[in-house]
Amino acid sequence: MAIGSLLIANRGEIAVRIVRAAQALGIRTVQAYSAADADSLAVRMADDGVLIGPPPAAKSYLDIGAIIAAAKEKGVDAIHPGYGFLAENADFAEAVADAGMIFVGPDADAIRLLGDKVAAREVARKAGVPTVPGSEGRVAGLDEARALVEEIGFPVMIKAAAGGGGRGIRIVQDFEAFEKQFPQAASEARAAFGDGGLYVEKVIGNARHIEVQILGDGENVIHCFERECSLQRRRQKVWEEAPAFGLSPSVRKALTESAVALAKSVRYRGAGTVEYLYDADAQAFYFIEVNTRIQVEHPVTEMITGIDLVAEMIRIAGGEKLSIAQEDVRIKGHAIECRINAEDPARNFLPSPGQVSGLSVPNGDGIRFDTMLYDGYVVPPFYDSLLGKMIVHGPDRASAIWRMEEVLGALAIGGIKTTVPLHLAIAANPDVIAGAFHTKYLENWLAGAPLSETATETENVR
Ligand code: ADP
Ligand code: ADP
Ligand code: MG
Repeated sequence: MAIGSLLIANRGEIAVRIVRAAQALGIRTVQAYSAADADSLAVRMADDGVLIGPPPAAKSYLDIGAIIAAAKEKGVDAIHPGYGFLAENADFAEAVADAGMIFVGPDADAIRLLGDKVAAREVARKAGVPTVPGSEGRVAGLDEARALVEEIGFPVMIKAAAGGGGRGIRIVQDFEAFEKQFPQAASEARAAFGDGGLYVEKVIGNARHIEVQILGDGENVIHCFERECSLQRRRQKVWEEAPAFGLSPSVRKALTESAVALAKSVRYRGAGTVEYLYDADAQAFYFIEVNTRIQVEHPVTEMITGIDLVAEMIRIAGGEKLSIAQEDVRIKGHAIECRINAEDPARNFLPSPGQVSGLSVPNGDGIRFDTMLYDGYVVPPFYDSLLGKMIVHGPDRASAIWRMEEVLGALAIGGIKTTVPLHLAIAANPDVIAGAFHTKYLENWLAGAPLSETATETENVR
């Protein structure tokens, strides 16, 4: 069934992104919003809006009943979950289908299977994809894990099977720490994800995070090459690039083909991402997880391939076959994305909600700013601090970095603190320019040279 109307069950910049894509496809948009978001850009842009509850996410963006009721009231054909919130909630996907509507994403069974990181590792292994050395399945405690840990050696990671968003991961250095941390990790995982299941992985030191974008229509699966997401803080991505730099053609081929093989093995339908750790010295990659949704950093892939991933996932959800053949997906130039958060990098990334003033956004060739900001917008304190993503494209990596520096220098967001000064410092960092970094690089660097308060002031308030 072709989708004629779509409810957006999310907020912030991704809601704006989805409204845009749907409107370009001629689809009527209905923006679901909490009481804190009545004045949001997505609500202003959408054809219609519907209040789903009070500000706390548990009573609005995470309330399955409220969202289904709102969708029914508005008579929409489909629901787009965005990322975060209910995007990887199989019960939600099922509830949408049971209510006779289309969930823009894979079906509940695929979300359940791939969303369980232990089950996903098994899917990867069966598809011939190398996984991080670790436990075969969930582990109950040290007794069960001892032989494995002796084999792979410390440090190891204890990970929550249902974890996400950089949470539910602990590194332990020895047996004593393992015994102590394991029960804590289990109860934490139960509280945070409703599932106390844990597994164990070897820590891959000095690795890079590289992920492959896939699109599937249930029969055919293609990849749209890879993204480099190694610059992270608290295991959350800060700066992303496409393509990954320095990959040999054979590594790129093996990596992308492994993601396609994995997705084909489950007859994947929708947009998805297969995440890996990459050991550049050994030129070896190891599967870590699958995200069964659109990702925050999808624009860098769009910039280098010219594919509109959000439009494509909406078309697929409406029953269309993939409109792109693998041989037509080509890499053109280099793209970089900076996640701009309402946080003060000079005060240990303290959240900085409040009213935005003096907003001035540069634009031009190869510049894209995905944001929910407008001048006078009040950033509410209830949600994720992401304000927007600055994305630039250039003929090569060096020119993309240079363009990012120029564009961020010209971007003015007044009234609140943002992470723009951090990104300016990253863009000028010689190791970043040389591509000499891994997933711990940014944290180590920040620990050694915290951004000064003056830097924040001068760069941020223009
Ligand atoms: P990506 O893989 O697209 O980089 P992230 O892991 O950064 O995605 O998560 C995307 C968004 O979803 C972020 O805003 C993050 O805060 C949110 N998120 C991810 N997982 C969870 C979770 N388990 N619970 C709550 N929010 C989450
Ligand atoms: P999430 O579901 O929270 O996104 P991931 O499994 O994707 O969790 O891991 C998030 C980040 O944690 C990775 O990008 C990487 O920086 C780090 N990480 C995860 N697993 C390992 C590992 N086995 N060794 C080293 N770092 C890891
Ligand atoms: Mg991940």
